[in-house]
Amino acid sequence: MVYSYTQISHYLTCPRRYRHRYLDGWQEKDTRAAMLFGRAFERALGAYFLRQDAAAVLFQEWQTYQNHGLRYSNGDTWDRMLEQGIQLLDRFCQDDRVRIRQPRRSLQIKFTRPISEHNEFVAYIDAIGKLDGSGCLLEWKTTSSRYPEEPAGLLALDPQLVCYSWITGISEVAQIVFVRKRLVEIQYLHTTITDEQRREFGHLVEDTIQRIAQFLPHSGIRFPQNPCSSCPYIGLCLDRKDLAEAALVRRPGAEDLGWLDELAY
Ligand code: SF4
Repeated sequence: MVYSYTQISHYLTCPRRYRHRYLDGWQEKDTRAAMLFGRAFERALGAYFLRQDAAAVLFQEWQTYQNHGLRYSNGDTWDRMLEQGIQLLDRFCQDDRVRIRQPRRSLQIKFTRPISEHNEFVAYIDAIGKLDGSGCLLEWKTTSSRYPEEPAGLLALDPQLVCYSWITGISEVAQIVFVRKRLVEIQYLHTTITDEQRREFGHLVEDTIQRIAQFLPHSGIRFPQNPCSSCPYIGLCLDRKDLAEAALVRRPGAEDLGWLDELAY
């Protein structure tokens, strides 16, 4: 089996969610504008480091989704997001704080690590380069609101960064956060992941993989925080075919495992 951060995090969030996604083959429909814009923006960043026309690449990538009936949030529109993306690319270029040597080899790098005889872990790292002249692992994020920076040290608890530090062995990590708001902003967040955090994450991965056989729901229904209300699989858990069909598609071939009537918990 090949595991990834997303898989482990799905299981730790809610084992039932893991089962829906990885065993029963249900995937969230690709209609979330923010997510698709993030992918298009990452390709534009790649073009920037390759000294190509990043704005043109963003337009080309984002144009693919112009008439796709995307789900926009926070009053976003296709045009507004494009405009913000171009402003962010301009700002990033002016700031000139991130450098990547050999961009063809240092962007979207695949790392694998054996976990046991039959299991391995895989991760794709956005980039390895320099922030303000210091070498580090880089992770791009696009968002419509700023990432919190207080209390100091918060970023070191980010499980995805800890995971990437663990698989690469790189302790210096940074998140470059492209904030799409009325006045766009870029946050350059840096932290150091310790050896102990990497060791602990390795244990967490091994322990989680051993437990991936039980799929009890961690529904987390407790107000005001309720992860189920934003979970794409809620239609399956509530046995609501309309909700499931609106949010999910099933992996080809997974239909053999049964349809909603078998998924009433
Ligand atoms: S709706 Fe709740 S119980 Fe069901 S998979 Fe999502 S988080 Fe888990």
